[in-house]
Amino acid sequence: MTQKVEFYRHSVGEAERASVDAALRDPFLTTGARVREFEAKFGGMFADDAQVLGLSSCTAALHLSLLAFGVGPGDEVITTPLTFIATANVILHAGATPVFVDVDPGTGLIDPELVEAAITARTKAVIAVHLYGQMADVRALRAICEPRGIKLIEDAAHAVESLRDSVQPGDVGDCACFSFYATKNLTSGEGGALLSRDREFLERARTLSNHGMSKNAADRYGGSYVHWDMVALGYKYNMTNIQAAMLLPQLPHVEDKCARRQAIACQYKAGFQLLPFVQFPAVAGGEGSRNARHLFVVFVSDMRDEVLSALGNEGVGVAVNYRAVHRLTFWKERLGLASDALPHATDLGERCISLPMYPDLTDREVQYVVETVAAVGGRLGLS
Ligand SMILES: *Cc1c(COP(=O)(O)O)cnc(C)c1O
Repeated sequence: MTQKVEFYRHSVGEAERASVDAALRDPFLTTGARVREFEAKFGGMFADDAQVLGLSSCTAALHLSLLAFGVGPGDEVITTPLTFIATANVILHAGATPVFVDVDPGTGLIDPELVEAAITARTKAVIAVHLYGQMADVRALRAICEPRGIKLIEDAAHAVESLRDSVQPGDVGDCACFSFYATKNLTSGEGGALLSRDREFLERARTLSNHGMSKNAADRYGGSYVHWDMVALGYKYNMTNIQAAMLLPQLPHVEDKCARRQAIACQYKAGFQLLPFVQFPAVAGGEGSRNARHLFVVFVSDMRDEVLSALGNEGVGVAVNYRAVHRLTFWKERLGLASDALPHATDLGERCISLPMYPDLTDREVQYVVETVAAVGGRLGLS
């Protein structure tokens, strides 16, 4: 049947179209002044001493962060299995060995105690994921990592607007990686950014993001010809002016869009209060914490896949964020873990359902989702 409530509708509008149109009238279409402007303005939303590198994706930011920290073959990187595959895959792309540790059963966030227990002489980095909009306990993780010289990388794909105990992404970790993928809170269709307070690290990442060339095209453009050099083996991960043009008009609206998503989350929570089979991720952090509300995820008590297909049949768009990485075929074969390994991530990955969550969702649509979940749960006999 046709969707009554889509899982996601973007809110790209006239301002983004006008900005992209202007960018297309420039002589210069790839990385240039608009990317620099985006880097400065996006960076302005975070710590004063942090700088930003615009990239083609969050996957690129995660990959480059490992490379620019010198992580490679023989090194171990600790991360969570309850994430999008990109977080884990980049560890293999860097030639390093992924080490998965379990998550907190309430929040779904990486458990710092298990991180500490998994550290070996080979551990070079930890990638923490700020899941659904709640930040991992970066202070606890830093206290574990810093004395041992282990880099703390924050996967902040869900966390542009997040706070945990008064810190933002990139305040405590060595860097933070953002996504501007089609369904993220800020979007250029595809895009990403790497933020860090470590300028030398960011310059290494910048060089690696453009084939390891000593100058990018904008630096080479105009004036008399100067040879460029290749100083490292890099990748093609740069952000274009067209992507930056699409992102720039969205920045002034980050707060009002976040406020609208908070209101939607409240409406969902009130609506589901009387349905015991619907559980929410536990609140992470104390005062001074904010859930960015990127995704609205519930954990159902049982029969997740039946609930998913019933909701789909009633016209409610749904998704799963995420089945645990170690349960997917490639990773299962690669890791060969016992079937009862990483039990909390496995369990949450088998019970989670993402419901529609975006600023243009109407109160009536939210109400329809709530009523449909209640009806489906009733029909399936869930309690
Ligand atoms: C979306 C996402 C990514 C990957 O982002 P891309 O920009 O698509 O590469 C990485 N980690 C998490 C947690 C994500 O949700």
